[in-house]
Amino acid sequence: MRRPLIAGNWKMYNNVSETLVFFDNFIKLVENLEGVEVAIFPPFTSLWEAAKKTAGTKIKIGAQNVHWEEKGAFTGEISPNMLKEIPCEYVIIGHSERRQYFAESDETVNKKVRAVLKHGIKPVICVGENLKEREENLTLKVVLPQVRKALADVELLSGEEIVFAYEPIWAIGTGKVATPEDAQEVIKNIRKEIETLYNKNIAENVRILYGGSVKPDNIKALMQERDIDGVLVGGASVDPQSFYKICAYKEQGVE
Ligand code: PEP
Repeated sequence: MRRPLIAGNWKMYNNVSETLVFFDNFIKLVENLEGVEVAIFPPFTSLWEAAKKTAGTKIKIGAQNVHWEEKGAFTGEISPNMLKEIPCEYVIIGHSERRQYFAESDETVNKKVRAVLKHGIKPVICVGENLKEREENLTLKVVLPQVRKALADVELLSGEEIVFAYEPIWAIGTGKVATPEDAQEVIKNIRKEIETLYNKNIAENVRILYGGSVKPDNIKALMQERDIDGVLVGGASVDPQSFYKICAYKEQGVE
């Protein structure tokens, strides 16, 4: 059984003082939630305080990016062992905003995935097509090669050490959410691709999230799909109340 993961990507929101206020509210809200894993991905400057504030709670902390080298003259970059020290359990790799604005490529995604796995940090690997590709029926032709390239020369023991997030670019921050059926179809195919690359057991253990305009009113339908193991939430994760409502989707009657 894959444990659902509800992940909040804060992007470039919430400085240190806003982070502390967020957790003052959010920790109380989620302390009794059962059967889901909750992770928050603050900006780098807020990671340390976020980790201190959530130590001993159920909330996991992750970073939004990482460099693949251990150390060196790479101004502005952060290494996997620096994240491990925080400690970060997760790191987002290959978010479409990084692919679009910061020249992230399938090759750098792969280097980052291999680097963080050496430190026991779980990558949340983002893949997804743009609107033109979707309209031209190219979704799987775009997404499955992204999956294969991210996993090139990656050895997996159980599959639990990585997470994928299927995030159609046209759905991120736009208010347009993929239908649960469309998201399920792509995610099912990502799982099949992982099975081809490794084996059925590993494919069944990898958690695959959906991301793109997830809100309290559409989470329930998404989580009813067999292969959707959670969500990566941007905008709606910055506010503790709205993110809590997404984390508490089981209380809307989803099992
Ligand atoms: C994201 O940043 O990964 C995301 C899915 O954003 P939003 O929920 O705002 O669409």
